Amino acid sequence: MDQDTDPKTGCFRALLPTFRRNKRTSRPVAPPAYIPDDVLQSQACPLDGPADFAYALESSWWRDDKPPPYHNAPARSPAFVHTVNDTLASLDGELRGISLQIHSHPELAWKEHYAHDVLTAFMAKHGFQVTKHYLGLDTAWRAEFFHSNEENAHHTTGRVLGINAEMDALPLGHACGHNLIAMSGVGVAVAVKAALEAHRVAGKIVILGTPAEEGGGGKVLLLERGGYEEMDTCIMSHPMPGPPHIANLGSTTARYGFQVDFEGHSAHAAASPWEGTNALDAAFMAYSGVSVLRQQMKPTYRVHGIVVGRDEWTPNVIPDHATMRWYVRAPTKDEAAALSEKVKNCFRGAALSTGCKLTINEDIPYYDLQNDETLSDVFTDIAQKYYGIPVGRTSTSASTDFGNVSQTLPCIHPSYSIPTEQGNHTPEFAKAAATPAAHKAAMQITKALAVFGVKFLQDDVLAAKVRHNFLRGQESGVAA
Ligand SMILES: [Zn+2]
Ligand SMILES: [Zn+2]
Repeated sequence: MDQDTDPKTGCFRALLPTFRRNKRTSRPVAPPAYIPDDVLQSQACPLDGPADFAYALESSWWRDDKPPPYHNAPARSPAFVHTVNDTLASLDGELRGISLQIHSHPELAWKEHYAHDVLTAFMAKHGFQVTKHYLGLDTAWRAEFFHSNEENAHHTTGRVLGINAEMDALPLGHACGHNLIAMSGVGVAVAVKAALEAHRVAGKIVILGTPAEEGGGGKVLLLERGGYEEMDTCIMSHPMPGPPHIANLGSTTARYGFQVDFEGHSAHAAASPWEGTNALDAAFMAYSGVSVLRQQMKPTYRVHGIVVGRDEWTPNVIPDHATMRWYVRAPTKDEAAALSEKVKNCFRGAALSTGCKLTINEDIPYYDLQNDETLSDVFTDIAQKYYGIPVGRTSTSASTDFGNVSQTLPCIHPSYSIPTEQGNHTPEFAKAAATPAAHKAAMQITKALAVFGVKFLQDDVLAAKVRHNFLRGQESGVAA
């Protein structure tokens, strides 16, 4: 199905196959072995160059249900890599349990009460100081761990590593795999804590439980209320379809959302239709107007909307009210804002031609994701070197409220592939998000992110370079 006409396009659903293989005939891809340094230099990520987001079935991943051969870090790894791996290996069963609990209790945006309670209980159990219902948001939470190292004057206060854990589901269930994101987030936090304690590294870990990614902009509200102010970096991960054992640090689109209401006047549709003002006609004209506008859109733009049906609609009554929901996406927030004005003109034209009153309510905008370049290089090196995961830089037309965070402080948001028969926002992906193979893939990324987190807290030179480059980018308008 063509991407622009796929009714299920949305958040990470848009990581669609540019060259989708027939899943019945696609050639299984063997899992990569640990890659020596000399070979690593020539290792190309399957996502570099023309993207191939072919869905990979579970049978193409780990044969005979054996873990991947790069499960353990090579012997020459820094000691904290082993601490991270050992900690997450010992927590594997507990984290799998959390993931499945959240998966089997799917909660829509702003209603993540069960996930809130499960995750905060886990963080408290593992020695974090927990704040429930954080910053006035009922299902947001914060957990903190601070470790000082008084033996080293340079490391007494340390830096702050931020982590995000998404929790919300879709009406289809956990069709975007946020159960894996939540599980991974708390796993990273506990593994970094273990490494700080074992290796006397100073630093603070702050993990936020972030509600309502699927449309509510929970992270944007937390950002506006100061939830990210103390962080020196913030990290999270997201599952997606794709070839086995790959990750991606590309950008996402910016997204503007609208609720559009047309108000008319009802009348008998046969006896006296001339007395009515047809709001449903306005909705269809708006839809047609956007369809005409599509010819002048760039291939990287996305506009998709629905008419929200009403129980009282019946063929023999002129509808007096029609509601539409629209998303407008483009590679940057400025482009998305400009495109939004053109789309709003389609709404205005429909209202004018039908005589309906128009009301437009705008959602919280999601900005485009800007993975920090310096941090991306560090994560890429860690993921490849210790876990054999090639990391690409392919952009997607999906969106995330983490984009706004990434334009405020240096961040990375790696996505990673899980075996699935369909992409995000489908029943097949919801099923895939609960499989053992998806859990294994999420755990590999969790380890890589935890190693990344420890390195960021430990490496003063790296942290200074990241801060310098980020501020320079903001001054030049790159990240602003
Ligand atoms: Zn989604
Ligand atoms: Zn998602």
